[in-house]
Amino acid sequence: MTQAGEGAEGPVSRREPAGHADGLSAGWDYAPAPESRDIVSIAPEYGLFVAGEFAPAAGGRTFSTVNPATEETLSRVAAAGPADVDRAVAAARAAYDQVWGPMPGAERAKYLYRIARALQERAREFAVLESLDNGKPIRESRDVDVPLAAAHFFYYAGWADKLEHAGFGPAPRPLGVAGQVIPWNFPLMMAAWKLAPALAAGNTCVLKPAETTPLTALLLAEVCHQAGLPPGVVNVLTGAGDAGAALVAHPGIDKVAFTGSTEVGKEIARSVAGTGKKLTLELGGKAANIVFDDAPVEQAVEGIVNGIFFNQGHVCCAGSRLLVQESVAGAVVDRLRRRLASLRLGDPLDKNTDIGAVNSPEQLDKITRLSAAGEAEGARRWSPPCRLPDRGYWFAPTIFTGVSQSHRIAREEIFGPVLSVLTFRTPEEAVAKANNTPYGLSAGAWTEKGSRILWLAQRLRAGVIWANTYNRFDPASPFGGYQESGFGREGGRHGLAAYLDA
Ligand code: NDP
Repeated sequence: MTQAGEGAEGPVSRREPAGHADGLSAGWDYAPAPESRDIVSIAPEYGLFVAGEFAPAAGGRTFSTVNPATEETLSRVAAAGPADVDRAVAAARAAYDQVWGPMPGAERAKYLYRIARALQERAREFAVLESLDNGKPIRESRDVDVPLAAAHFFYYAGWADKLEHAGFGPAPRPLGVAGQVIPWNFPLMMAAWKLAPALAAGNTCVLKPAETTPLTALLLAEVCHQAGLPPGVVNVLTGAGDAGAALVAHPGIDKVAFTGSTEVGKEIARSVAGTGKKLTLELGGKAANIVFDDAPVEQAVEGIVNGIFFNQGHVCCAGSRLLVQESVAGAVVDRLRRRLASLRLGDPLDKNTDIGAVNSPEQLDKITRLSAAGEAEGARRWSPPCRLPDRGYWFAPTIFTGVSQSHRIAREEIFGPVLSVLTFRTPEEAVAKANNTPYGLSAGAWTEKGSRILWLAQRLRAGVIWANTYNRFDPASPFGGYQESGFGREGGRHGLAAYLDA
């Protein structure tokens, strides 16, 4: 499978930069720097983690998980069915009633600290496994996903014995059993975002990782076991969407936390309505990354690249709409093309790689279809010349210029390495265009004027606004959306509220 961008000048080798479009960039010869996969031992089969033990699914069903960069089958994993959901919820309930609920916060914190330290100690193993199962570059799994997952456990460990000082009244109570369903774009990090605050607040958990990326959640289950976490406090049910649906509909859970598509989020909201279960939804996005004419161009370009090409654009808060002030649009797009021509696409385990594999053939198909719609609707498509590996799921970094607000690529979440460029003339127009979306998860602003950033922050309808940076995450900072991006916050003190009956 090979795709080349408009203006392609022939193939370049896999270890060369993504392209040298129009002679914009000189080739840099990096020696290959592959991270060894020897540190990871992947079992041929994995069971469900319920009540502190790994066991096959009751129905004996399994599915395979694949390395998206090579299409190699990594392992076969148990597919949970309704009987397994029953068993996991019962285990979580027993652990909540008998052990975890009554345990003092200071004791719970010790387990969370232990998990955090084990994540750090086994960081390389987690990073390699995440890159194998997800396709993301090792540079990102090593420097972002794994450290942030550990940081979440450290951060919420610190809250476990201070809940009465968190601003939710003198004696906030846990909710009980949390059913948590997570996506494939940040498998370990999403697991940490879900588990750490829930456990700190005194809840027990049943976690359903995405079908295409179950392996790091299972390794995290092993870490929970290693940390001596009492059986049933954390349960991991691998499986497909039907397992997620059975979990959120189960009458034995008190709280549903979901991260994923807006479409499934709406289904879950309908299924939970009227049940009394507490719900948080972190859904899609179509964020505006706004560049003003006074922005430092080099920094803004780095921020644009980080905003949309980080994690192959599989990011709910990705800066997928670039709004650039008309007077500097030409210069910014030129500079952006040069920068794109220096990005390296290829083996996710190579430490030089900037852009890894798309997570699944379904996602590749969606990105391909929406990009084709962009062209069909009249936007101009550009990618650096770029030879894609023959096996695996790959998509060249792509920019669309001449995009208008009505184009599908300006309205729909592509969830891939595809940037739509629009222009504006005044700050008011930038705000109007940025807010012209059913979503409202994040936004970015690039300007040297602090007053303009504050002015914008008051007007942009987005849960997170980054100023002169993008895609920055910190466990102390709340994250979440408005409108079709969902509701509720994860991270920070606010993240505790989702797991407390306050
Ligand atoms: P989904 O929303 O379908 O998947 C997220 C999680 O929910 C997965 O664990 C999935 O299981 C599970 N799930 C699926 N259906 C149900 C259901 N009815 N009830 C409960 N849980 C369910 O996202 P996809 O992976 O299918 O991706 C589709 C699109 O969603 C992407 O193209 C992207 O645009 C968007 N997306 C957005 C994300 C975000 O954070 N904003 C994250 C992921 C996707 P399983 O893996 O087996 O399907």
